[in-house]
Formats: sequence, C-alpha cells, structure tokens
Amino acid sequence: MSADTDPGALGRLGSRLWFYSNYHCNLQCSYCLTESAPGVARRQLTADQIRDAARDGRELGFDSFGITGGEPFLHDELIEIVADLAAQAPTLILSNATVFTPARLRRMEAWAGLPVEIQISLDHPEPDVNDEMRGPGNFRKVVEAIPRLIDLGIGVRIATTLEDPENADPDEMDRLCALHRSLGVPDSHHVVRPIIHRGRAVGNTLGRDVVFDDFEPELTLTADGAFATPFGPTVRGGRLDTDLLVTRATAPLSVPVAALMRAAGEAPAGDDARTGIR
Ligand code: SF4
Repeated sequence: MSADTDPGALGRLGSRLWFYSNYHCNLQCSYCLTESAPGVARRQLTADQIRDAARDGRELGFDSFGITGGEPFLHDELIEIVADLAAQAPTLILSNATVFTPARLRRMEAWAGLPVEIQISLDHPEPDVNDEMRGPGNFRKVVEAIPRLIDLGIGVRIATTLEDPENADPDEMDRLCALHRSLGVPDSHHVVRPIIHRGRAVGNTLGRDVVFDDFEPELTLTADGAFATPFGPTVRGGRLDTDLLVTRATAPLSVPVAALMRAAGEAPAGDDARTGIR
C-alpha cells in the first residue's frame, strides 16, 4: 500500500525515514550524542541496505528521507546513495559541513534538480565560542561551505544547538541570524534546539533529560537495529543505548514499522514543541 492510496498508513509515526549511514566523524564535539570521533567504529549501513529500506519505505507510506551519523559525508558511497534516495523523495542530510573538498563538491553536481537539503550545525556567531564546542576551524569551514552548496542548488538549513535555547542571549541570536541570512539561509531554514543529555553530553554534564514522549516517533535505521527517533541510537562510554531501540531487525522494513506503530499507539501524544527537538 502506498502513501498515495493511504496517507494514514503510518499512524502516529513521522513520515520521514531516517538512516544512520555511519558513526565515525572527523570532529569530536562536546555534546555529541553518538560519541563520534575519527577513531570510533564506523558501523556503516551499506548502500544496498539503505536503498532497499528506502524502496520499502516508500511502499509503506514514508514520504521523505533523512541521513545522519557520525558525519554522513565520510561514507564512501553517500553521494550516490543520496542521488538514489532523492530520486524517490525529498532527502535531508545532517552534516558538520567541514568535509566539502572541491572534489566532493564536483561529485555533488550529480544532484542537480533533485530535492536535496543539507542541515548544517552552527552554534554561535563568534568563531571562538562556536569552535569551543565543535573544534578548531569549524566556524570558518562552515561559513565557507554554505555559499558553495547554495551555488550548487542544494538547499541549506542551519541547526543551532544550545544548552538553554529559551534563555539564549537575544543579541547573540540576532548576530547569528544576521550571519545565516548573509550566507543565503532564510529564517525559515534556521532551527534552534537544546542539547540532549545523552552521549558525550552526559560526561560533560550538558543538556536536558528526555524520554520517549518528548519525541515525534520517527523510524531510524542503524547498523545495530531500528530506533524510535534519530535521537535514540546514542552511545555512552562506548556502549550503545538501547532504551529507544525498537527492533534489532531492520529488514523487512514492515517489522520495525509495525513495532514502532504499536509503541507509539500506546504512548500519549508526543510534545516535541516543548523540547524543540528536530
Ligand atoms: S555532533 Fe556531529 S559533527 Fe560533532 S562529533 Fe558528533 S557527529 Fe561529528
């Protein structure tokens, strides 16, 4: 049954199907949910695993895809995978935007005309403060990358992750918004969200506690199984958290879809407007 014939086929589940393409990253941010770093195990989904699940997902009613990690662009086949997914449905990639070499940007020209967006992390308008959390040189690489991506016709979104978004300094936020507008990213494409108290944020005593009901259930596939939200497959002290694990099986996709629909159906309505988690 397709989304065209039954748009309610997914019940309370979000209609975006997420993939953790890999867990390794060139950065080592202080609040990273997955304790990602250059040396961690890659735990990649293969291109075939992602393509097969995407195809099944469309048949089950998902209308868009998301790819996160780790840094997805470190997956060798990411650019080809995205081309395949975006030919089926709008595709969003979460990236730190620090690995867009000229060679990689040339390969991304193959996405011309496809509905691809990249959501990029940028936390502060001042380079030194931004780089405290995310590493030296991060700010410069991000502000250089954004116009290049826009020139390629790729949609760019900015995600700002803060310890206390509700009490953010208004002057800082004004400067941050002026910066993203100057780079070509409109206000509608800027999201501000809290640090989640999972992963590396726990050891650094950062972020707020969350539970299942804080999230819109969004099926998320990883090399370790299917989770209830992209904020689920977190890693603490090198061990995978399983409190938001739905099933170890990810194929056929109908298995985790049915399991998450059961779990979501029994839960009270989520309230991600409260936490602003997107
Ligand atoms: S938060 Fe993102 S960019 Fe930073 S280490 Fe984790 S995966 Fe990498």
